[in-house]
Amino acid sequence: MDQPVTGRTDPEGVGRDADGRVVLFGAACPECGTRFFPATAVCPHCASEAVAPEAMPRTGTLYTFTTVHAGPRKWKKPMVVGYLDLPNGVRVFAHLRGQVAIDDVLELGLDTIGEEDGKPIVGFVFRQMGGV
Ligand SMILES: [Zn+2]
Repeated sequence: MDQPVTGRTDPEGVGRDADGRVVLFGAACPECGTRFFPATAVCPHCASEAVAPEAMPRTGTLYTFTTVHAGPRKWKKPMVVGYLDLPNGVRVFAHLRGQVAIDDVLELGLDTIGEEDGKPIVGFVFRQMGGV
């Protein structure tokens, strides 16, 4: 873990590091060493129940992405989504922001990804380094 963790906030699996930056909380298995996101109560590799929360790296390399034009009404469309490979070996599915290309190194942030009952749905996104 790069930064001490100070607490958790919504949405699920998202918190802040000591510098107030957004962090994803996945989990690590002490028995087989597997790391994963989102966290689950049981290790997806060895079925151990000894998994512990762990902050994930805040950057990832874009493995692949696509633009989705159809879907539930609550999601902003078109939406660009993709898979990123984090430096710790975890592959994360995420909404993307801005112009992206495969192999770009993107940074974690928060943004509005939809709307339900007149209220924004805020979720984690990945975007270019230093982006807003
Ligand atoms: Zn395990």
